[in-house]
Amino acid sequence: MIIYHLSTECYPVAKVGGLADVVGALPKYQNKIKDIDAKVVMPWYNKSFVYDHEFDIVFDGYIHQGGNMLQVQVLKEKSDVLGFELYMVKIPGLLDRDNPYGYQDENFQFIGFQHGVLHWLSAMNIRPDVLHCHDYHTGLVPFMIEYCPEFSPLKGVKTIATIHNGEYQGMMSWEMARYLPSFDQYKWGLMDWNGLINPLASMIKCANAFTTVSQGYLEELYISFRGLESLIRDEFGKAYGIINGIDTEVWNPETDPMLDFNFNIKNAVEQKKKGKEKLCREYGLKPELPLFAFIGRFATEKGADLIPDIVWKSIKQSYGALNIMVLGSGNSYIENKLKEYDYTYTNFALDLGYKEHLSHKIYASADFLLMPSRVEPCGLNQMYSMRYGTVPIVRYTGGLRDTVTDISTGGAGINFTYPGVDDVIHAMNRALMLYNQKDVMENLIDANMNFDFSWEKSAEKYIALYKN
Ligand code: ADP
Repeated sequence: MIIYHLSTECYPVAKVGGLADVVGALPKYQNKIKDIDAKVVMPWYNKSFVYDHEFDIVFDGYIHQGGNMLQVQVLKEKSDVLGFELYMVKIPGLLDRDNPYGYQDENFQFIGFQHGVLHWLSAMNIRPDVLHCHDYHTGLVPFMIEYCPEFSPLKGVKTIATIHNGEYQGMMSWEMARYLPSFDQYKWGLMDWNGLINPLASMIKCANAFTTVSQGYLEELYISFRGLESLIRDEFGKAYGIINGIDTEVWNPETDPMLDFNFNIKNAVEQKKKGKEKLCREYGLKPELPLFAFIGRFATEKGADLIPDIVWKSIKQSYGALNIMVLGSGNSYIENKLKEYDYTYTNFALDLGYKEHLSHKIYASADFLLMPSRVEPCGLNQMYSMRYGTVPIVRYTGGLRDTVTDISTGGAGINFTYPGVDDVIHAMNRALMLYNQKDVMENLIDANMNFDFSWEKSAEKYIALYKN
């Protein structure tokens, strides 16, 4: 069975968030299953961690976007190190950007990527068994292969759509239709939602099945989904919630090259302590106090707007008996507030930016990881922290409720229900009580490290779905 994963991110090639981790791991684990050949297709950006690798040009052609003729090249990575074949689509002047997202003309960018991929596959007569589309950036693919004559060699290929983050739907005005490959005009309704082209809605309508990255998130979308809930209800018969795993080869505290002090379940307590001491010294924090951490995008869906108030209030209420460390970037108001607190409070440290190495060190060194998310389709941070023996403190939502069980009900984490500052601080106070009981803390480290979040089970579930 040949599967092509279409995505704008893939770890370690280009990563912005969890989508990259999933697309960098799922195909690798699928390829461990007999008779499965999973590949990844993504855009070629200006920057990537793999450009010192060698590539073959496997396709060279042209597409038309409106009145513009664009060159399309497909490059195949030559080594075997990623665990899957990697194809990168190069469209000079359109896809060669520094970052995957954040551009005014992103509609042209993603239409171009989808057009380029399907043009290549059709022209070369490559008919995979499954096209697996990830998020709205590839959301028009299921429509295009059925209703764009240019891609008729692909008609009937089965499609799966995965919603990693339903907060972004890629809506655009119908004026953009002339930049799409020409399509059967009678079928326009399959791209439409409320008078706009909506790629996320289109992939839900047109894919053979769609999945969300946890069962909990799927249940939430059924009730409320930024205006698409009625669509989810209509299409519920082909909806599946499949929880993400984590790449336990990359995220292995025993071998992780990004850690200063590696550890396993036997020496975790001592080694984690050494890592924490080093990290605290580097950031002017106090190693003897508990360390709470937050890693992520400064966006309201992550509850990052609560973090500034959590910082000053928790430090004040505990009389300075805790440390907080934040790694991330995003909303400038949040960044500025946190910079101010970094200057004001010795118990608080901030590192602005995207830093893969530092994130691994924090997962390994913190005592508690804060996730006050308003929306969390799956969430990977809680799984990384658990794998590295750090207790997650999470809002009971989406994938967080599927993966973290409160200590009061037999789990090894802390849950709270409402995404508000006082609720988070209440949860932190519960954590402080645990921190002061050495045996309990040691048991929690042990229990968290023992959780099984490996991809094997979920990779099998996707294969079963493709077969179905
Ligand atoms: P998202 O909605 O942002 O994709 P996920 O929990 O699914 O959230 O995945 C977030 C991923 O991005 C994790 O691998 C996390 O470690 C990583 N990450 C987020 N922010 C940063 C940062 N500032 N530096 C390093 N890694 C980060």
